[in-house]
Amino acid sequence: MYKIRQVDLTSQYLAIKSEIDNAIRRVIQHGKFINGPEVTKFAEHLAAYTGAKHVIPCGSGTDALLIALTALELKEDDEVIVPAFTYIAPAEMIALCRLKPVLTDVDEKTFSISTEQIEQVITARTKAIIPVHLFGQCCDMEAIMNMAKKYDLHVIEDNAQSLGAVYTFHDGKKKMGGTIGHINCTSFFPAKNLGCFGDGGAIFTNNDDWAKTLRMIANHGQKEKYVHDIIGCNSRLDTLQAAILDVKLKYLDIYAAERRTVANRYSAAFELLGELVTPVESMFSTHVYNQYTLRVKENRRDALKQYLAERGIPSAVYYPLPMQKQPALKGRIRTAGSLEVSARLCNEVLSLPVHTEMSVDMQNYIIEEVLNFFHKN
Ligand SMILES: *Cc1c(COP(=O)(O)O)cnc(C)c1O
Repeated sequence: MYKIRQVDLTSQYLAIKSEIDNAIRRVIQHGKFINGPEVTKFAEHLAAYTGAKHVIPCGSGTDALLIALTALELKEDDEVIVPAFTYIAPAEMIALCRLKPVLTDVDEKTFSISTEQIEQVITARTKAIIPVHLFGQCCDMEAIMNMAKKYDLHVIEDNAQSLGAVYTFHDGKKKMGGTIGHINCTSFFPAKNLGCFGDGGAIFTNNDDWAKTLRMIANHGQKEKYVHDIIGCNSRLDTLQAAILDVKLKYLDIYAAERRTVANRYSAAFELLGELVTPVESMFSTHVYNQYTLRVKENRRDALKQYLAERGIPSAVYYPLPMQKQPALKGRIRTAGSLEVSARLCNEVLSLPVHTEMSVDMQNYIIEEVLNFFHKN
């Protein structure tokens, strides 16, 4: 029998092997491994695809967040609002900058930061918000931008998981996630929707001054070689990675459509199971399904995971711990409210394989075994 993988990067590569191999060979032949022409070209293509005015490639999604936060020049203990249910990178980078992560609960349906709760935690020290577009769809960016305007806050979108998702404003205007906040970040980690063959990331902004500062911070604070105006770091996207990403960018929308097809088949099959909650698509965003995340009720998540594993079906828990329970953040965060939705989700969520190379047989087998678990148990 075929092996089912949570993420299948090998099959995805094989489908476009000659294009990727040629792109890699070209870089090896010209030898400009750092800041080669492919880096500029990819940044231009990504700007055209997203509609962002400036795209600044960097070393990883985590670096992108660190560089964005550094650019804000906040003071020690200034507060940055971040969801409690997410990957650690945003809260961690806030803490690394000696700023204070203020945790906010999420909406249990969309897993996105709760916009009602944001307003309740704002204080005079609050300087920024990092909404995280979790699992493939955008947070309610219009509400967040309105709040940011009212309280004079910076907005840094963490779009590591949702590149390609489109947000619709009340007036019908559409913008891509990751182009609406002031400075926005994404990741090209292999398992993201646009993944390279190693680490990579990018920062987006529509503001010319921010763009200059961000470029400088990513490049040792220099505009001119060996003149360092501000403190920065060394964070670059390798030319090889840029060449690979430039090939894959052309397929990003096709990949999203393929993920969505799998997600829709899962949801149609599971809809009537009372023990499961299928992913809820919000009104204001398309969903690019970086993850297909179910909620399993009645404390049966771990049993389902084990049952599937015994039948060769991988699944994953994103995330097992909310930020308020992360040891590294102890004593460094401010929490407001109970954060009980985030804590509960960590016990309920289960992500099924959803990638671009899944055969219908594979999907049917997964669906059948999920249904079997609930019928037998
Ligand atoms: C993956 C991810 C990051 C970090 O990206 P890296 O490229 O792995 O550093 C940040 N935020 C979220 C929400 C992510 O999923």
